[in-house]
Amino acid sequence: MAFIYFLQARNGRSLIIKIGRTGQCPYKRLRELRKSHPSFDQMEMLACIPTAQPVQAEREHHKKFSALRSPRNPKDRDWFRPGPDLCEYIQDWGQPHVCHPDCHRLSPRHVQRLEQIAQYEKKLRRQLDRKLTTYKKNLK
Ligand SMILES: [Zn+2]
Repeated sequence: MAFIYFLQARNGRSLIIKIGRTGQCPYKRLRELRKSHPSFDQMEMLACIPTAQPVQAEREHHKKFSALRSPRNPKDRDWFRPGPDLCEYIQDWGQPHVCHPDCHRLSPRHVQRLEQIAQYEKKLRRQLDRKLTTYKKNLK
C-alpha cells in the first residue's frame, strides 16, 4: 500500500506543507525527511491518504493545489502554503496513519546482518567458555 502524505514543516514563524508520496510507512519517510531537511525547526505528519496509484495521485494533488505552491524552493515542487483550501482538504480527506506490522518489517539485508551478529556472538561465547575452563583447570 502506498500513501499520499501531508506533513507540515516549521521554520521560525513560517509554516509550509509538503504533499508527497511514499510506498513505505509514512513515519519512516518522515524520519528520512527530518534528516535530509535539517534547516526546519519542526516537521510533523498531518495525515495520509492510502492509494494504489501513488504517482498519479501525487500529480493530481499537486495540480489541485498548484495555486498554493510555495516559491521558497522552486526546485522542490512538493511544498505548498497552508491555504484554507489545502487545510480543509487535509481535514476532510486525510487520515492518521496507524502502523501495520509490515511497516516495521526488516529488510532481508538487515535480517542477514542480525544473523551474522548472532553467530559472531555465539563464537565469542564459545571462546570465552574455553578460556574459563582452562583458567579453572589451572586454578586447581
Ligand atoms: Zn507505519
